[in-house]
Amino acid sequence: MEDKKCNFCGKANYENRRTDYLYSYKGNYLLVPNTPVEVCTNCGMVYYDAKVLKSIEKRFFAIQRKLEKPDHYMDVPVSAYA
Ligand SMILES: [Zn+2]
Repeated sequence: MEDKKCNFCGKANYENRRTDYLYSYKGNYLLVPNTPVEVCTNCGMVYYDAKVLKSIEKRFFAIQRKLEKPDHYMDVPVSAYA
């Protein structure tokens, strides 16, 4: 991250973590386990590197166009809170 100050709380304490990132675009999804993120240890805001997001986006469209294969598919049941 270029600017090491949290946009939310202004503190500069970050921790590198890994998370499951869910990319969604027009009703299609790509789950990306193990995505590197930076988390503000003060307020918990999660920051994604622009480069990381770009590569996820690229992968998403490659899979959509069947140029690349995902690791596996997952059926996701969805139930809205009502
Ligand atoms: Zn913060």
